[in-house]
Amino acid sequence: MAERYHLPVGLLNRLRCTAEHLKPRTNGGRESLDNIVAACVFCNQTRHKMRDVLSPVAYQQRVRRRVEARKWHPLECHPLLR
Ligand SMILES: [Zn+2]
Repeated sequence: MAERYHLPVGLLNRLRCTAEHLKPRTNGGRESLDNIVAACVFCNQTRHKMRDVLSPVAYQQRVRRRVEARKWHPLECHPLLR
């Protein structure tokens, strides 16, 4: 993949798919399908670290706006985000 898209391996690791708990396990979130979505490592690690933690829907809207503005993840990743 890294060679195919001419991307550094570290950048691909940032985009690796993870299981994101919409309600964190530390806050009583369950290991159930309605509480788990696919998210890249970056989103999974950053959403809950925001000063004002956004709801899953608000975070999704934020990511979509930023992707459209080409301000989400380094520009080299954008061909993979389409
Ligand atoms: Zn992401």
